[in-house]
Amino acid sequence: MKNWENNIRKVVPYVPGEQPKKEHMIKLNTNENPYPPAPGVAKAVADVDIDRLRLYPDPVVADLVQGIADFYKVENNQVFVGVGSDDVLAMIFMTFFNAKEPILFPDITYSFYDVWAEMFRIPYERIPLDDEFKIRTEDYKKANGGVIFPNPNAPTGELMTLEQIEQIIQANPDVIVVVDEAYIDFGGESALPLIDKYDNLIVVQTFSKSRSMAGSRIGFAISNPVLIKYLNDVKYSFNSYTMDTITIAAGTAAIKDRAYFEMTRDKIIKTREWTKQELKKLGFVFGDSRSNFIFARHPQVSGEALFEALKEKDIYVRHFSNPARINEYLRISIGTDEQMQEFIDFLKAYINQ
Ligand code: PMP
Repeated sequence: MKNWENNIRKVVPYVPGEQPKKEHMIKLNTNENPYPPAPGVAKAVADVDIDRLRLYPDPVVADLVQGIADFYKVENNQVFVGVGSDDVLAMIFMTFFNAKEPILFPDITYSFYDVWAEMFRIPYERIPLDDEFKIRTEDYKKANGGVIFPNPNAPTGELMTLEQIEQIIQANPDVIVVVDEAYIDFGGESALPLIDKYDNLIVVQTFSKSRSMAGSRIGFAISNPVLIKYLNDVKYSFNSYTMDTITIAAGTAAIKDRAYFEMTRDKIIKTREWTKQELKKLGFVFGDSRSNFIFARHPQVSGEALFEALKEKDIYVRHFSNPARINEYLRISIGTDEQMQEFIDFLKAYINQ
């Protein structure tokens, strides 16, 4: 072994869902939105003066920050933007999780959290979900260096009430509490109204799901100006220009179109509820997901076998073999009505064969 081997930061990376390059497939594996971005996005991108690409983008991303602040009725200095919420969350881990005590997050949750913790050498503890995959708020009442959880949780889709979230925040006044709301628009109540009440709360959201813009990589955090300033100080010490000129134009147009956002969100919720009914008829077991996916298992069919059988037919869903407790489950993103009908038709034939 060479000496330099000892000095390498060795990490086990996060594994994103597959992005197959097939023309005719039903892609229900990465919680993308099946509908296109708001119509104004195409125009905003077409209108970007290509000559502007000579110049660096706006380092403070003023237009997009303003758009988000307007939408959520907060001040500009309460908004932090980044390259997807992954970038925002990574910056949050780096900025706020520097205690000796472990940060806390659920044992079954977004599988990037432990990757960032390992990467930044942050001690962490995974808190087991209960038997119904729910977060027990009382488990978060112990000494820790910070708390993070998604609401609704991923990949379970389980939603916590605002009262439960408040219990966790109240139990942890001396650390930063982060609520990752990647899926909140699909039927949950956002913790945003709590940011005025608690100075240690950060709410993170994304344009990747409910705003159909996973390919643009836009995420944001909303908190009080003090925490946002700390976050920006770290970000500008790392990379001043994370968001590019075209993305900023696209995101600014997207956030302005509230009607389109609400229409596509409502369609997905409706399709999700229809899919739940059909899955139930077929004997699947699942919780009451409030996200744009359903986390389901079938008592008689192995999760892995079903995953493979679907893939054979170019229907992609997500299967996690780790931890063992979830390896019989499939996470099924909600597509269009037509896609979900095809998915259900396949299941009907497969299960009744
Ligand atoms: N948080 C959760 C819970 C997620 O599932 C995802 C999607 N992979 C993200 C954050 C990151 O999404 P993005 O970087 O596309 O905003």
